[in-house]
Amino acid sequence: MIPALLPTYARNELAFERGEGAYLFATNGRKYLDFASGIAVTALGHCHPHLVKALIEQGQKLWHTSNLFQIPEQQRLGERLVANTFADTVFFGNSGAEAVELAIKMVRKYHDETGNPGKYRVIGCNGSFHGRTLATLAAAGNEKYLKGFEPVVDGFDHVPFENMNELRAKITGETAAILVEPVQGEGGVRAGSDQYLRALREVCDEYGLLLVFDEIQCGMGRTGKLFAYEWPDVKPDIMTVAKALGGGFPVGACLATEKAAQGMKAGSHGSTFGGNPLAMHLGNAVLDVMLEPKFLEQVRRVSGYFHGKLKSLVAKHPGIYVEARGKGLLAGLRCEVPNTEVCDKLRAAGMVTATAGDNVIRLLPPLIAEERHIDEAIGILDGVARDWKR
Ligand SMILES: *Cc1c(COP(=O)(O)O)cnc(C)c1O
Repeated sequence: MIPALLPTYARNELAFERGEGAYLFATNGRKYLDFASGIAVTALGHCHPHLVKALIEQGQKLWHTSNLFQIPEQQRLGERLVANTFADTVFFGNSGAEAVELAIKMVRKYHDETGNPGKYRVIGCNGSFHGRTLATLAAAGNEKYLKGFEPVVDGFDHVPFENMNELRAKITGETAAILVEPVQGEGGVRAGSDQYLRALREVCDEYGLLLVFDEIQCGMGRTGKLFAYEWPDVKPDIMTVAKALGGGFPVGACLATEKAAQGMKAGSHGSTFGGNPLAMHLGNAVLDVMLEPKFLEQVRRVSGYFHGKLKSLVAKHPGIYVEARGKGLLAGLRCEVPNTEVCDKLRAAGMVTATAGDNVIRLLPPLIAEERHIDEAIGILDGVARDWKR
């Protein structure tokens, strides 16, 4: 008999009833160090006082009105994102996949508007993840997720990550855009090199393509800059954001330059829930904290500390952990032994993590993590590796 919940997840046995900062408390009475952060969502940890206050404040005032009306909180969050990024304009939705879906629509509309309706194909990378809608699945091209859901949405080509030769060879007169995660999350925690990200911008300029960065996982402070594109200083034309944007409240956004968004007019796109006052008030509260002068500085400091410790761990346990990767607090450990088993053992030892492609353990501490949390995590990773050898 089918369970009451559609059985699309292979869930583990834990249920949590409370969270506080970097810790989760389960119904089994145990405390867990949370290095999954709800898959890069609860970037300020659990129950951050500023977010709790904001939730209660707006909860008692106004939740939803629809986009038929002016929404001052949405206006404010849009203006703040514009002020702090490459973008000139923002559309708010409820999830990452919706943001990528709009990015794809915007790409097609741009070329249609500028007299090239035949340009509609988007080149993406192997090992990427962009969401679970029909178009975002096609954009990522992961056969495992597409199987049985054919026909695949047309208009997407794929090349290996970090490979400019193959990418250049894929460009045709129908190519409209390049869609890349500056740091691949789901696919195995691979950070694109500065050189690669700059080369993407150059090739887009050369062929009149739009550059779309999916920063749903690597954005919002995760790499130690508000957005990962700031490291190589490569400005995209369109960028998708979600996960940490609402600090745990579902919010997604598609940011764009005026040029890229020129085809989008009244009626071109919409969302019933997107950008409602409650979601926007929380998005603003997240930005209040992340834009504090010292916030990202601490993320960078703790990241440096974390990566140093991860490298030592790999040197110490080469039969278990073979490579430390990622950028900032989007870190990964490629394993020699099955990553799912490592994940289970880490959980049994009191730490929650996530897996990723390429046999990687994904480590996503909240951005409020301090050196002591890193030490605790490294201790658990070390202990699991030692027990494994016995
Ligand atoms: C999580 C994720 C998505 C999809 O976001 P949803 O909110 O699950 O739809 C898209 N792109 C990247 C890079 C992600 O990490």
